[in-house]
Amino acid sequence: MNEIKKYWQNYINGEWTDAEDGERIAIENPATGQNLAEVARARKADVDRAVAAARACFESRELYNMRPVNRGALMFEIARHMTAMADEIALAECLDNGKTLTGGKNEAMAAARYFTYYGGLADKIEGRMIPLGADYVDYTIPSPFGVSAQIVPWNFPLQIAARSVACALATANTVVLKSPELSPLSTYFIAEACHRAGVPKGAVNILCGYGHDCGAALVSHPDVDHIVFTGSVATGQSILRAAADRVIPCVMELGGKSAAVLFKDADIAQAVNSTASGIFTHAGQVCSAQSRLIVPKSLEDEIVGKLVAKAKSLSIGPGIDGHDMTPVISAGQADKIEGMCLAAAQAGADAVTGGRKRSDLPGHFIEPTIFTNVAPEMTIAREEVFGPVLSVLTYDDPEEAIALANGTDYGLCAGIYTKDLAMAHWAADRLVAGQVFVNEWFAGGIETPFGGMKRSGYGREKGQEALLNYVQTKNVGIRITGGGGGRPGG
Ligand code: NAD
Repeated sequence: MNEIKKYWQNYINGEWTDAEDGERIAIENPATGQNLAEVARARKADVDRAVAAARACFESRELYNMRPVNRGALMFEIARHMTAMADEIALAECLDNGKTLTGGKNEAMAAARYFTYYGGLADKIEGRMIPLGADYVDYTIPSPFGVSAQIVPWNFPLQIAARSVACALATANTVVLKSPELSPLSTYFIAEACHRAGVPKGAVNILCGYGHDCGAALVSHPDVDHIVFTGSVATGQSILRAAADRVIPCVMELGGKSAAVLFKDADIAQAVNSTASGIFTHAGQVCSAQSRLIVPKSLEDEIVGKLVAKAKSLSIGPGIDGHDMTPVISAGQADKIEGMCLAAAQAGADAVTGGRKRSDLPGHFIEPTIFTNVAPEMTIAREEVFGPVLSVLTYDDPEEAIALANGTDYGLCAGIYTKDLAMAHWAADRLVAGQVFVNEWFAGGIETPFGGMKRSGYGREKGQEALLNYVQTKNVGIRITGGGGGRPGG
């Protein structure tokens, strides 16, 4: 019943294929620490094949020449096939990523929705007519870049892959996507859905390999024209260096250390529930996690008490059994999170709940953790943990709260808890973040533009804004007549 395929191939040029050298990567179930499956391990030779297929498809102009409305219809077909496979996808995502089955199904449905959302926009990507007087016609063409290399992290691999592949197809780019080596399985369903929908061969290629060889070979490939990267700042920086050599554009969706400011008039029950969901969802392995909460000093005890009660009420265990707090992705990630918690305690912060691995459980589980007495200069207050760890900081006046929220190198998301709309507007204007949530962390959706400021990156995914990153403007200026707006030929 809960069985999945034991070996998964790469998808290159419309075919499922082994790695050139036959190597494989073992995939673990993070809830048990047991081996789950194997995937073909792509290296440079496989990347070369995939990029060649994507290039040939792009040069054939098959996608570009299609009426955009038909390209959109093709994307609706991809969505239909994704939806039909939603239960299978949910199981794969539950077993290789640690999510609950509901969480896995949500991933599948969100992925399908990216294809309908951007499929519906495929025929609305319009150029502009620019008036130059009667003797000229001048217009712009939003042109695809060519081969889009896409690199995806392990926390929400399917959704993140779907949002980038869908934008690329809507704009007639072709894609080579490298799935994350820790949790690649759900991304293969995009390839399967494209295959069943009849997407042209080579338009979408999906392979899995390690970052240092497969990923590096992809982003530095001379036939790649565009890069979409979602992952850590350090990897993003190395990819940007590779892109700089060839002057190709990048979308950088990087990490965060997002803070919410709670104002005195806030609905505390609502803020506590929202904060718990903001930091404990998917065991905190969310780039936009609410990893800091900034509260008035006078309310700290009350709010922390309620948050601790909430954290303690969460059940910890495998996603397949429907627990609230599911595993983190790997032993290495669990060690890193615990190490950051121990260092925070050493620096003087108090873990009022949690702070340790659950070594009594077989997989990679971390207790939901809340720190108080956090000083803004501490690493726990400045650096991304990517685990279920909340830092609570306090303030005396609202200006100080905004300064604390803005006081890291990141700028992905920010939040505000208040009933006062004027205060919400004042604070939203001052918070340096690509997305600001008021009274509900994660308010927003596929339709709302998402992306970072500062070291959290640039470019936007989701929403209509994302499409702007997948086209380049070509201007065409035409001299129409001999001059003076006269009739042609005399
Ligand atoms: P990571 O940077 O370690 O890896 C991300 C991807 O990059 C993986 O597929 C990896 O194989 C690949 N990679 C690694 N080295 C590479 C190289 N030299 N060249 C090319 N590719 C390489 O990140 P991670 O640990 O998988 O993911 C967690 C990070 O991702 C966190 O920082 C998180 O905030 C961020 N993230 C951001 C968003 C967003 O939309 N802003 C979404 C999810 C995750």
